[in-house]
Amino acid sequence: MSISGSTSSGRGPIRRLRLVLATANPDKAAEIVDIVGAAAGERVELVACPEGKVEVEETGDTLEENARLKARALVELTGMPAVADDTGLEVDALGGAPGVRSSRYAGIAGRYDENVTKLLAELEAAGATTQQERRARFRTVTVACFPDGHEVLADGVVEGAIVFERRGAGGFGYDPVFVPTGHERTFAEMEPQEKHAMSQRGRAFRALVVALVEDIDS
Ligand code: IMP
Repeated sequence: MSISGSTSSGRGPIRRLRLVLATANPDKAAEIVDIVGAAAGERVELVACPEGKVEVEETGDTLEENARLKARALVELTGMPAVADDTGLEVDALGGAPGVRSSRYAGIAGRYDENVTKLLAELEAAGATTQQERRARFRTVTVACFPDGHEVLADGVVEGAIVFERRGAGGFGYDPVFVPTGHERTFAEMEPQEKHAMSQRGRAFRALVVALVEDIDS
């Protein structure tokens, strides 16, 4: 376990863990910093990854493998603990696609608009016209890797459905077409804090913070 420092609160030491955040996606980084900042108090601190240093090919067959590839690469580069996540949108009518290929669904990584256009076209081609037929979920897997080789993992899922047209200007990626179960607005129509409270990434990183604090204290 690598712990960068400690402070005294009068009730014993507060041990604090610093992790480098391995993501080249600024939309995700902003969300993760928000979520972890709110959940971790003083126990876990995220440090931005060195600029231009996280060009890791996401060659894994699973979200977990891809998250591990990104985190491990940064541990090797910095010698510090590092954390990465990987997220997929699983659409039942498309056999779980785009899944682990969510970023590159329409061909080139990170083309949000083209990905959404392809998703809506595929659902139309599949004849998925009811909310039940358009069921989907976001899944995030987070992996924290440490220089001594140990890992702490957590995941988060949010169930929902794909609507027929884009709605809302917030969020990123598939947010304009994803409505979480029990709600009427898409993630892109919600304020960031409302999305984080129920999102796959919010759930995964809050669970990760709990697991990391247990790890620090063990
Ligand atoms: P990544 O591999 O974890 O960067 O995520 C893969 C792709 O999933 C991204 O390029 C986005 O298109 C999409 N994605 C990830 N997280 C979200 C989210 O919270 N909302 C909507 N789309 C997302």
